[in-house]
Amino acid sequence: MLKDKVAIVTGSTSGIGLGIAKELARLGANLVLNGFGDASEIETIRQGIEGEHGVRAVYDGADMSKAEAVRGLITATIEKFGRLDILVNNAGIQFTAPVDEFPIAKWDAILGINLSAAFHGIATAVPQMKKQRWGRIVNIASTHGLVASTHKAAYVAAKHGLVGLTKVVGLETAGSGVTCNAVCPGWVRTPLVEKQIGDMAAQRGISQQQAVEELLSEKQPSLDFASPEQLGGTVAFLCSPAADQITGTTISVDGGWTAQ
Ligand code: NAD
Repeated sequence: MLKDKVAIVTGSTSGIGLGIAKELARLGANLVLNGFGDASEIETIRQGIEGEHGVRAVYDGADMSKAEAVRGLITATIEKFGRLDILVNNAGIQFTAPVDEFPIAKWDAILGINLSAAFHGIATAVPQMKKQRWGRIVNIASTHGLVASTHKAAYVAAKHGLVGLTKVVGLETAGSGVTCNAVCPGWVRTPLVEKQIGDMAAQRGISQQQAVEELLSEKQPSLDFASPEQLGGTVAFLCSPAADQITGTTISVDGGWTAQ
């Protein structure tokens, strides 16, 4: 379905981004992987994707907290492949604290990586996608782009901002062959959430398993995690012809969290 298309997935060395990258590669897209991590592990991932799916996969370690690096990732991809079809803005970080104790540096970092990076990426990618008369922009937001939780001031602000940005770009690109949508996952068991499970277990003096059960029962009625593979499937759907008229909106993959 995506043969000869070129996709950038930011933050694809781990978790949801890696699940999305693998699904796009399975469907035939060439990939630009991005994110931090051990160089040899990243190379193993890159080679694995090329070997398994017969696509071209390159790695670009651009730091999503830096505007010029984000813009450079897009321009370098267009230079290298001669096109850009799919941009998945997925890189993200989390930090939790009450608003009056929230460290300024953490606020700035979360807004930078979880929101501003998507702006810089989209701003640089849209002209190329419009020229091609086809493009798919998928922003990985969160249930926290739609509703709030305590102690997540920066994350909730950034994700709500990302949903707002999605609507604007959906409108500005409508009818051009480019769509822009946000995916809003609930709990997905990745390193980002593993840390929150560990923190909860330590704070409440409970086991990891009890923390998992509390985390899910508090928010996610299905009482189960969504998976990176399922998020990959959701992004693939948004890249399919069935989704040609879906733009400027959100798709929740949250086990019923935001239905409450
Ligand atoms: P993760 O920690 O497993 O992966 C995050 C990825 O982002 C990694 O590849 C990391 O290297 C990369 N990254 C972090 N800072 C970066 C930077 N400055 N520059 C480039 N790359 C950077 O986390 P995840 O759970 O897979 O999260 C992926 C996205 O999904 C995030 O935007 C997160 O907010 C969102 N999300 C996650 C959940 C969940 O339950 N895990 C729920 C809703 C939304």
